[in-house]
Amino acid sequence: MVSDGGCIFCKIVNGEIPSSKVYEDEDALVILDISPINKGHSLVLSKEHYKDIYDTPEELLLKLAGITKKVSLATKKSLACDGINIVQNNERPSGQLVFHIHFHIIPRFSHDGIRFDTNRKKYEGTEMKEFAEKINISIQK
Ligand SMILES: [Zn+2]
Repeated sequence: MVSDGGCIFCKIVNGEIPSSKVYEDEDALVILDISPINKGHSLVLSKEHYKDIYDTPEELLLKLAGITKKVSLATKKSLACDGINIVQNNERPSGQLVFHIHFHIIPRFSHDGIRFDTNRKKYEGTEMKEFAEKINISIQK
């Protein structure tokens, strides 16, 4: 896909904007997030511009997932963190701010006080079965 001229991640991939590079190969670039949730928080970017998980080819997603694992292990080893969150946001209501596919790798520490969990909802009656069926029917076979 042709890069969107205004995309900040494309500018980073093209070297027009500097970044703290963690890893690079022919398909992906991993950089540090400039405003980290914890220090060492990195972003796995595809080199080609895709907006989100919906329009990214599956083969590329698998590649990005493999790199996410590799960098997660290296983050754990090098920072001695106690855990890692992998976060991938799609569209504005989910918290996506840069519309170029990326995975967050967030190192976590036992008492870092960061919380991603919010108040969980409760299913009523047969709702849970209905939601599962609704999504299942829409899966592209
Ligand atoms: Zn882009």
